[in-house]
Amino acid sequence: MATPLTADRMLAALRAEGLTVREHTGWRTHNRDTATGKTFGPVIGVLIHHTAGHNDREVCFNGRPDLPGPLCHAWLGKTDDLWLLGNGRANHAGSVDGDVVHALMAETSPLPTDDEADTDGNDVLYGIEIENLGDGRDPYPAGQYDQAVRWAAAICRAHGWSEKSVAGHKEVQPGKIDPSFDMNVFRAAVAARLAHAPSWNPNEEDDVTPEDITKIAAASAVATVNKLIAGGGVLEGGDITRIAAAIAAKPAVLTDAQVQALAASPVLAENIAARVDAKLAARLAN
Ligand SMILES: [Zn+2]
Repeated sequence: MATPLTADRMLAALRAEGLTVREHTGWRTHNRDTATGKTFGPVIGVLIHHTAGHNDREVCFNGRPDLPGPLCHAWLGKTDDLWLLGNGRANHAGSVDGDVVHALMAETSPLPTDDEADTDGNDVLYGIEIENLGDGRDPYPAGQYDQAVRWAAAICRAHGWSEKSVAGHKEVQPGKIDPSFDMNVFRAAVAARLAHAPSWNPNEEDDVTPEDITKIAAASAVATVNKLIAGGGVLEGGDITRIAAAIAAKPAVLTDAQVQALAASPVLAENIAARVDAKLAARLAN
């Protein structure tokens, strides 16, 4: 249970997660709170939908004759970025299964079967509508899917929730089929994001060069070396390899003083005697 994010906090959280956020005119005060006399929140999770259509951003903002807008908090275009449409209560979840709501609140998994519609989901859930026909043939471009993951992760991160606070509409309301992708896969992607800083960009990691890896390994080795010089700790698996790599990269990685201090380290000497070949010892002595 959490107080809904303010408009400013929502914007900041989404941008920190790497999203290009577009703001629909009037979104900050567009909601169903006054009309229904029910205030949005406390919130317990985020809900994923597909729109079952195309070019439906304005429908999601304005609503339909039978259902006033906003129909979601965020609308995610196929190629049109993420749009904020509402702030407060939105008509997206409808009547949902209270058992599932409780499971989301407690972050238990797997979620129970949604076989009742006894709870107002619009009280407690943020909602995103993803522009897609939802027929199983209309693809979700990788960029669009990634933005949906980022939207969910940003809100979970802001509230201190895990991926277990994320559900698909089809998991909370009997008869719903959206979204038309596997929610366990989606939640795993949210969990992966939450295990990293919000600025994490997994696609960029494809461009990591061998030089980057050497630098990262060297930085890790220097940290190990400094720990040993400070007289602390026991060598762990891989430490010797890292130290050897750092020594091999000398002087780019280690200063002379560090190498000398390392050579004088009784902890390392002990470990070398016990576990390492004479080559490394000789290298240290030079
Ligand atoms: Zn839905």
